[in-house]
Amino acid sequence: MNPLGLYLHIPFCLRKCPYCDFYSLPASPDAMDTYTEALKASILDWGKRLKRPADTCYFGGGTPSLLGARRIAGILMAVREAFGLEKAEVTVEVNPATVEQKDLATLRQCGVNRLSIGLQSGVEEELGSLGRLHSVEQAIHTVAWARQAGFDNLSLDLMIATPNQTVESLTRSIEFCASLNPEHISAYLLKLEPDTDFGRHPPSGIPDEEMERELYLTACERLEQKGLLQYEISNFALPGRESRHNLKYWNGEEYLGLGPSAHSFLDGRRFYFPRDLAAFLEGIGPKEDGSGGDFEEYAMLHLRLTEGIRERHVQERFGYSIPDPMWDTARRLAKGGLIHLLPDGFTLTREGMLVSNAVIAALLD
Ligand code: SF4
Repeated sequence: MNPLGLYLHIPFCLRKCPYCDFYSLPASPDAMDTYTEALKASILDWGKRLKRPADTCYFGGGTPSLLGARRIAGILMAVREAFGLEKAEVTVEVNPATVEQKDLATLRQCGVNRLSIGLQSGVEEELGSLGRLHSVEQAIHTVAWARQAGFDNLSLDLMIATPNQTVESLTRSIEFCASLNPEHISAYLLKLEPDTDFGRHPPSGIPDEEMERELYLTACERLEQKGLLQYEISNFALPGRESRHNLKYWNGEEYLGLGPSAHSFLDGRRFYFPRDLAAFLEGIGPKEDGSGGDFEEYAMLHLRLTEGIRERHVQERFGYSIPDPMWDTARRLAKGGLIHLLPDGFTLTREGMLVSNAVIAALLD
């Protein structure tokens, strides 16, 4: 059996960002201690049940860095006991507003080898409009401390299509990111999620569709000029520094998610823990979310990757070819510039990536 990916959700934030719909609550030291113990117990319990190694471990949130290095180190000890973590990629999401130099040194010493830093923008006004609590200077310090601590695998988050963003301000952000020499960048388009402050009261200056397109294409081109190659709709990396953990999602590999709102895909079934911290602390188990791993799901996830879908992979995995109707649709969409045809498969073009949901839905229709 292949090793699992392990996702650990840390459901605490200093303050809710107005665009964010991830599950998180205000933190207190007691609440974080209680959660840490519950999460460790859950990790050990699932480890005994599954008896499988994991080769990626991702602390996401919420704000994992808010938990502090001591609690994260304790959780990692439980993870090693339960899932081995041999030669694993171990990532912690870090908010520059909630981290100190000594925390990063401790994280590195306890085996964390990758940080995903919530930078979002290199322009102070844009950080303000996103309600972020950190400054550009704090981001610079965080990266410098991480390098001093020995981290050689850093990912920066960058947000595209933020209020009043222009091609010029985005370019400044990208130049700023590049000056920090990250190994990886995740560049997500801002979406107005219904259950957020931005969703309820959209801020002024949100770029329209045409501007969003221009910003996205600018980001893709500029990042690639910096040597950060696009490997997924929103992800760019130096060669060999792609996120091993996130690739498991897009490649349809198995993963276990623990903590409120965390999702899993194991043994052909999907399940998730509800967005309810109290329920998780009470030990209430995950809810079923149906079966997974069929061809439609594989195509939907794999088309997010610049690799696209290929006959050889589909044959190996499902024992049949890419269905003819899908090929027909791909040829039609290629004429409109949304699909790039290859001899053995097809990929989304960047124009196709901008409307990926509609393109993938058409291919699967
Ligand atoms: S964006 Fe990050 S820091 Fe802000 S509320 Fe969401 S999880 Fe918390």
